Parts: sequence; C-alpha cells; structure tokens
Amino acid sequence: MPSYDPNNIFAKILRGELPCYKVYEDDKALAFLDIMPRAPGHTLVLPKAPARNLLDVGADDLAHVAKVAQQIAKAQMTAFAADGVTIQQFNEGAGGQVVFHLHVHVIPRKAGTAMKPPAAEKEKPDTLAEQAKKLAAALAN
Ligand code: AMP
Repeated sequence: MPSYDPNNIFAKILRGELPCYKVYEDDKALAFLDIMPRAPGHTLVLPKAPARNLLDVGADDLAHVAKVAQQIAKAQMTAFAADGVTIQQFNEGAGGQVVFHLHVHVIPRKAGTAMKPPAAEKEKPDTLAEQAKKLAAALAN
C-alpha cells in the first residue's frame, strides 16, 4: 500500500489551507459536509491524525471516528427528518476510495429515496452552509 500523502485534499482541509462546511470538531476528529452529497446532509468524519484508510489507522483513532459518526447519525435523524442513515467507508482505489485520508461517510436517508451516484453533482454553497449550521445545532443538543 502507498504511504500517506500529506498533500491530499482532506489533509489540506485539516490544516486549514482549504475551506470546508464544518459540522463538528474536537482534538481528534473533524466532520464536514460532502460537497457532492449523495443525499442532503451527507457528512464525512475524519481522524485528525494522518491515516490513509482503514488499513493503517490507529485503533484509538478509528474508535473515535466511529463514535463521532454515531453522534452525527443521531443528529441527522432530527436535523434532516431522516428515516435512516447509511454508513460507507472505502479503502484503496480498488475499494472505491478517491481521497486518501481516512473518512467515514454518514448519509441521512429518506424512505423510498435512492442515493445519488458518487460525486454526481456539486451542492450550492448557500445550501451547504445552511445544512452545516443546522446539523451543528442538532449536535449541540
Ligand atoms: P471516497 O474517497 O470514495 O470516499 O470519496 C471522496 C468523497 O469526498 C466524495 O464523496 C467527494 O464528493 C468528497 N469530496 C471531494 N472533495 C471534497 C471537498 N473539498 N470537500 C468535501 N467533500 C469532498
């Protein structure tokens, strides 16, 4: 497996070199909206520590990311009036991974509504900003 590339796009977001629609942050994890959501509210949860994917992440960082993903999923149920939540996580190109800093997709779902294909359409900045605010507020409750 190739080594971690510190110039991947999520590493740049973690260093504050690129913007994101942040919904949650603590000392070990960051969560922000996917700019090409498969459903409204689609969120990515990352460990702050460098990790390419599930195959090299430290066990404690993985456990923390799972805990944050659970909190995001619960908040999405209320903030987006979801009927369910889909969790996805891809490893290496063959596993569907495109950005090589570990991230867990947390996607609110409505009954009977299919997810859009991956990276199909960029959401409007105003919509993402409003959704990030709504989800962050639900997390704080
Ligand atoms: P994957 O590595 O297959 O899990 O896919 C990477 C995901 O990152 C896709 O869902 C993209 O829509 C998303 N993405 C790519 N660039 C950005 C960005 N700058 N901010 C937020 N999400 C992004």
